[in-house]
Amino acid sequence: MGQTDLAGQVVLVTAAAQGIGRATAVAFARAGARVIATDVNEAGLAGLDSCETARLDVLDRKAVEAFCAQVGRVDILFNCAGIVHNGTLLESTEEEFDFACDLNVRAMIRMIRGVLPGMLERGDGCIINMSSLASSLKGVPNRFVYSTTKAAVLGMTKAVAADYVKQGIRCNAICPGTVQTPSLDDRLRATGDYEAAHKEFVARQPMGRIAEPEEIADLAVYLAGARFTSGQAVCIDGGWSI
Ligand code: NAD
Repeated sequence: MGQTDLAGQVVLVTAAAQGIGRATAVAFARAGARVIATDVNEAGLAGLDSCETARLDVLDRKAVEAFCAQVGRVDILFNCAGIVHNGTLLESTEEEFDFACDLNVRAMIRMIRGVLPGMLERGDGCIINMSSLASSLKGVPNRFVYSTTKAAVLGMTKAVAADYVKQGIRCNAICPGTVQTPSLDDRLRATGDYEAAHKEFVARQPMGRIAEPEEIADLAVYLAGARFTSGQAVCIDGGWSI
């Protein structure tokens, strides 16, 4: 990949301070786009020199509305913010479920609501939502809350794609397997045996390794330029779904 030319395009990225969001902001900038990289952790945005940066808490509806109004034109929205919750249905609480719904699902809807009217006015827009293979695509143990919310992201993606396909809007979802990011490291450390947990994650993926965030970023840039593609859940999972 790496051939997509996004010169003249404005890209808005959420959760760009680290991991997939950060790698994707860099990749979009390298493809020639003007990138607005946002995160609730403003300090974490330091060093994203090829992007404009701003604090944005996607849980804050009023802040999202104000931010989208102030930013104006957005051609490509990369909805990346999300949280992984570990555990089964019986191990999860209503509060954990509500929080994950808010961050993994409602926040994406908020962001789309903020940029879609402008995209419709211009008759052109691309929305990329971060889902996961752990969703309606694959049952993964101990990911009840996470998989339920990431399945909702796929439903949302298809609904938006269907509603606006004739008005120049494309909406796709990215469904990674395991990706090497700071939050993955936190989760591996939290098991108490980083090496064993890492080995287990690697073993799930037939390609025998965990993805690098830059590989997911390449797919996001590709989807931004894939003008005949909408409503798709694109897996990038080291063969986990084969
Ligand atoms: P990460 O979990 O390491 O970082 C998450 C980022 O989100 C942080 O910079 C954090 O500050 C930001 N954030 C948290 N709450 C926010 C809020 N309210 N508003 C704005 N920003 C907020 O990143 P990651 O592991 O690359 O995950 C990014 C996305 O990719 C998530 O949606 C995740 O579910 C998805 N995903 C990750 C993996 C993986 O293995 N890492 C696999 C599949 C899907």
